[in-house]
Amino acid sequence: MIFSNELTHWYHKNKRSLPWRDTTDAYVIWLSEIILQQTRVEQGLPYFHRFLDRFPDVKAFAAADEDEILKLWQGLGYYSRGRNMLKTARQVADLYQGVFPVSYEQLIKLKGIGQYTAAAISSFASNEAQAVVDGNVYRVLSRFFGIDEPINAARSKKIFQELADAVLDRENPGLHNQALMEFGAMLCKPKNPDCGICPIRLSCIAYRDDKVTRLPVKLKTIKIKERYFNYFLISDGYTILMNKRGENDIWANMFDLPMLETAGRVPASDLIHMPEAKELFGDAIEVTDCWTAKKHILTHQHIYAQFIRIALPPGRAIPPKYRRVELAGLDKIAMPKIIYSFLNNLYNA
Ligand code: SF4
Repeated sequence: MIFSNELTHWYHKNKRSLPWRDTTDAYVIWLSEIILQQTRVEQGLPYFHRFLDRFPDVKAFAAADEDEILKLWQGLGYYSRGRNMLKTARQVADLYQGVFPVSYEQLIKLKGIGQYTAAAISSFASNEAQAVVDGNVYRVLSRFFGIDEPINAARSKKIFQELADAVLDRENPGLHNQALMEFGAMLCKPKNPDCGICPIRLSCIAYRDDKVTRLPVKLKTIKIKERYFNYFLISDGYTILMNKRGENDIWANMFDLPMLETAGRVPASDLIHMPEAKELFGDAIEVTDCWTAKKHILTHQHIYAQFIRIALPPGRAIPPKYRRVELAGLDKIAMPKIIYSFLNNLYNA
């Protein structure tokens, strides 16, 4: 309890004023939580406002089409989260007549809502005694209690959840959860935590044993896949050829440019002679420009992209899987950030 009291005391004095705090509207909390799982507060704020302005309640959200959600989500990455939000909203509209549920038991059954989100919404919206465990909580608990179990090992989830449950202030679970997460985000930070001014340092095992920089322990398990995307820029000055991506890869259902993926870097001059390129655009492709993009980093993949402007021979039919999009309407369609940045630089700079 001392742990919780100290944290809430610190929280009252130091918390950031954020629009999703001090509300019990489960829809607003849900919106903020999903966005914040994807990005930091400063970057997430404009997204939060954009979504809330466009969809003031969950019924309005549920009525949106996927393209619009992806467009609003553009730049946050991990687009399946955006798509899952739509599924959640539609379930809430169907099952609960558009009233966002506030109990953990109902929330956890919704598509796209996991243990953390259900605990966050139920504790913030209805003060249900559910302990949240996110990255901040893992870190604070690991350091304070000196736990060196790797936080990303399967067996650790139970250990940390039980610990979070044990220290939860059951009278004020919402406040306790907010305080613990804010404390992790602002003071007990991943790098350079402010131990010198920390109100719980005298009981902190990592601080006592000089292990702050070694906790929490994380297993290095992620294998990074390197991918090489060769994009073709085909434009007549008014329209551009674009490709709607399929369901089964990154950036599902978003728009990018006609593309050939290769196993490694291939110069544009060689690429246009590859059978796959010829099959798409014929034998007489002419390269008129070429740009190499900066490495694009996703959680499990690094994308190396080059953009090749090509001129097609007159009369060459466009492969039916591509569609012409007006340059003036580019801002209305959802694109991966790497495509958006490139086109934006090219046409709006
Ligand atoms: S003393 Fe340092 S490591 Fe321990 S809880 Fe406080 S900020 Fe975190």
